[in-house]
Amino acid sequence: MALDLNCIFCKIVTGDIPAQIVYRSDNVVAFDDITPQAPTHVLIIPTIHVENIGDLAQLSPTITADLFSVAKQIAAERGLSGFRNVLNTGEEAGQSVFHAHLHLIGGRSLAWPPG
Ligand code: AMP
Repeated sequence: MALDLNCIFCKIVTGDIPAQIVYRSDNVVAFDDITPQAPTHVLIIPTIHVENIGDLAQLSPTITADLFSVAKQIAAERGLSGFRNVLNTGEEAGQSVFHAHLHLIGGRSLAWPPG
């Protein structure tokens, strides 16, 4: 489905909900996470509504790759020497918004393993 009118991230794509947009193309939008976990915490999402990254990969390898290349570009623009990309799939893994999104987290030391 192109857009889900009940989806908060679709509403960010359309501009119906405000966000601090840091990148936009036909395929991808990136914006600051509303609850940042690090000095840089950006969410990179497809402009089409897809529930999770696996579904997006099956639908469009091109847009999936765009998410990662935009993350690299934003990290470079911010001079991050290292960063973490996170993809949560399903409630048990901590997914709370069911529109695929790539977390870009950086700007501080990051512990491993994650919680
Ligand atoms: P996840 O838990 O992997 O599904 O990540 C969802 C992320 O979306 C969380 O880090 C939230 O802080 C973030 N989030 C939820 N609503 C908004 C919003 N309106 N604007 C920006 N980020 C949001």
